[in-house]
Amino acid sequence: MEDMKQLIETTEATLTPYFKVIEETAFVNQEKVLDAFHAVKATESDLQGTTGYGYDDFGRDHLEEIYAHTFKAEDALVRPQIISGTHAITIALQSTLKYGDELLYITGNPYDTLLEVIGINGNGIESLKEHGVHYNKVDLKNGDINIQEVLKQINDQTKVIAIQRSKGYDQRPSINLDVIENAIKQIKAQHPNIIIFVDNCYGEFVEQREPIECGADLIAGSLIKNPGGGLAKIGGYIAGKKDLIARCGYRLTAPGIGKEAGASLNSLQEMYQGFFLAPHVVSQSLKGALFTSLLLEKMEMRTNPRYDEPRTDLIQTVAFENKEQMIRFCQSIQQASPINAHFSPEPAYMPGYEDDVIMAAGTFVQGSSIELSADGPIRPPFEAYVQGGLTYEHVKLAVSRAAHHLKSQQLI
Ligand SMILES: *Cc1c(COP(=O)(O)O)cnc(C)c1O
Repeated sequence: MEDMKQLIETTEATLTPYFKVIEETAFVNQEKVLDAFHAVKATESDLQGTTGYGYDDFGRDHLEEIYAHTFKAEDALVRPQIISGTHAITIALQSTLKYGDELLYITGNPYDTLLEVIGINGNGIESLKEHGVHYNKVDLKNGDINIQEVLKQINDQTKVIAIQRSKGYDQRPSINLDVIENAIKQIKAQHPNIIIFVDNCYGEFVEQREPIECGADLIAGSLIKNPGGGLAKIGGYIAGKKDLIARCGYRLTAPGIGKEAGASLNSLQEMYQGFFLAPHVVSQSLKGALFTSLLLEKMEMRTNPRYDEPRTDLIQTVAFENKEQMIRFCQSIQQASPINAHFSPEPAYMPGYEDDVIMAAGTFVQGSSIELSADGPIRPPFEAYVQGGLTYEHVKLAVSRAAHHLKSQQLI
């Protein structure tokens, strides 16, 4: 145990300058969010929701302006009726892609749940494919967007180009905003009318800019990840060009109604407060990710990214030798959770995922991955995705204990 304490101390000493950089980013983003609250004159009565149709829901409308202002978008849709990140992305894709159009993913395979949305996997019902939308993808080349190949694959049908910023459950690097900006510039120079969509899940507030500032037309994400700040209990957002957001509104509710209706019930207070806290909470998660990366690296495990690499999302990958190590690690994270710590997760089928998934998450909000969670599909190379953490201290405790368990059970 004594050498564990020593290991933690040297880990934190090495991380000090990197933590400073994370704090600077949190400060810049906190100011952006505060300025957005001031720009819309956020008022106490905005925190009260509406019922029924939700007409004249000024709190909802102001919150959407706050998102738009912060992300430098013309407009935004931020709703409890958007049930998840997948739902937000689905609305964005369905409302921009019509019969005969092509969707081109340029960051390799999309996130698991989107494979069924597009119609690559699953029964195809109501997929983009069933609606006559074609799909194509360009894989990353040496971890980078292969822009030459992208430009070659674009054709008259290419309507939307999709970029997934975070690696999600894939073994590729996440794509930072400089790379995204460069790709968008080159695409737009030749094809100014193509809609650039960015799946921004896990990316919000990790860098000092967001994808719209890098030329994206439309972005989407989940409120039980970064922008909900750990407080939002449900919701998704889409932000971008005004005409595209209007379309998304029609798709979410009904043509003619759009974003004018949709009661916010009791969701607004936590969505406002969560967005206000989000830059700081994201910084806590990031510090936790760096700690996880370096501590486990010191214990001779393979972690990605390394602690000293610049980040664009919250995902920390830890690679295990085998299934047992991976399952034990995730179970230890669960044991250090505030809720359901006395339950032990087992790999199981999850709707939308092809392989069995283990999910360690003793979270206040079900499935929330801005709260500390460790999960991954049980398939070689047995990589667990460790993300989130409302406080750095909690991540430090949980990961230190998990590392200690693996060691004391001679699994590493
Ligand atoms: C989490 C995630 C999604 C889907 O979000 P859910 O809220 O789980 O539906 C999509 N893309 C990426 C990159 C993600 O990380």
